[in-house]
Amino acid sequence: MRLHLHVEGGLALVCQRCLGELRHTLAIEHALVLARDAAELERLDADPDCDAIPVENRLDLIALIEDEVLLSLPLAAMHAEGECPA
Ligand SMILES: [Zn+2]
Repeated sequence: MRLHLHVEGGLALVCQRCLGELRHTLAIEHALVLARDAAELERLDADPDCDAIPVENRLDLIALIEDEVLLSLPLAAMHAEGECPA
């Protein structure tokens, strides 16, 4: 089973340099394949073009989206060099 994730939105992060507000635009496009068991996951993982995740009984979609959003965020949110508002 395939899942196509498309997340768009705007977030306000805190700049690690000046502690000011930093607008961050989210645009996530991610195609995932849902694996029903360990064997299927292993088979799918062998394909470098395929992003597989294990799904036991139910898929926690909110948690999945949360992870995708967190992973897409910069490790250290900062304005570009020299662009911090004074
Ligand atoms: Zn800044």
